[in-house]
Amino acid sequence: MNKQNIPVVELSGGISMPQIGYGVFQIRDYEECRRCVSEAIACGYRLFDTAAAYFNEDAVGDAVAEAIQKGIVRREDIFLTTKVWLQDFGEEETERAVRKSMRNLKTDYLDLVLLHQPYGNWQAAWKTLEKLQKEGIIRAIGTSNFTEQKMNELLRFAGQKPQINQIEIHPFYTETGYTEKLKEAGIQPEAWGPLNEGQRGIFQNTVLTEIGERYGKSAAQIALRWNLQSGNVIIPKGTKEKHMRENLDILDFELSPDEMAMISAMDLGHSEIIDFNNPATGRLLMKLKIHD
Ligand code: NAP
Repeated sequence: MNKQNIPVVELSGGISMPQIGYGVFQIRDYEECRRCVSEAIACGYRLFDTAAAYFNEDAVGDAVAEAIQKGIVRREDIFLTTKVWLQDFGEEETERAVRKSMRNLKTDYLDLVLLHQPYGNWQAAWKTLEKLQKEGIIRAIGTSNFTEQKMNELLRFAGQKPQINQIEIHPFYTETGYTEKLKEAGIQPEAWGPLNEGQRGIFQNTVLTEIGERYGKSAAQIALRWNLQSGNVIIPKGTKEKHMRENLDILDFELSPDEMAMISAMDLGHSEIIDFNNPATGRLLMKLKIHD
């Protein structure tokens, strides 16, 4: 635990990472994103998850820099994650992209950099992350959305295995078998969309609300607690301060093995947001350009 009482996980290589963080996907407006990150810091969040493709690294960086300047936090209290977009996969391209992210985030090192998607020249991009890690610019390196097949390809090729794989995980898509394999391989699973982006009536779900009534917690809190107890890092997004606080307030109770099993049984076995096993997904994502 750190002083906010947020549990920490230890990544391979001995780096500590908060197990609960704050994601900023789809908060495109500069002022809105800066407000969210400042409020999240005040609530106690210390891990922030952004990406070059979210177009808000500068707002995250300015909010963190302001909190440091005001003496609310030190840089070393903050765990900054960003992701390299497909268009920037390549030896020189990836290094240029990481350095640009560092400038946007107003930092001279990054805590974690992920390859955002498993398409394009991810091999060259991975080698570059390995190099930048050796140079001390990045503390931890990882992947995002790497399916089991892609991860196996990467593990055959990599000099250094990913310390994290950030994938969609929530009660409707539990990925339990895969996350167990990742953990066995020493790769920490990190759950994106831990609230299923609010879809499929998750906040009114009967299983989650009934379990929540036993502990005086909301369906959202039960979904997050299930993910935490499953051993995953979680990065929920809440633009409302009430949600930010609620999503951190999941540390004073524990789900029983039966309750964990009931929630795991909600698994649909597939994503309803994006299908990384469909080759069309790769073709579509490869077309998305984030700069000239
Ligand atoms: P999410 O966290 O699953 O859900 C966010 C939605 O849930 C928002 O509409 C939010 O509402 C609502 N919410 C949050 N807390 C709530 C609560 N306690 N009660 C009721 N509603 C609540 O979705 P996400 O933002 O897509 O995923 C989280 C983070 O994962 C992202 O921000 C991003 O950092 C990361 N991510 C990564 C990838 C990837 O490809 N690697 C993909 C998607 C997401 P309000 O905003 O109104 O508070």
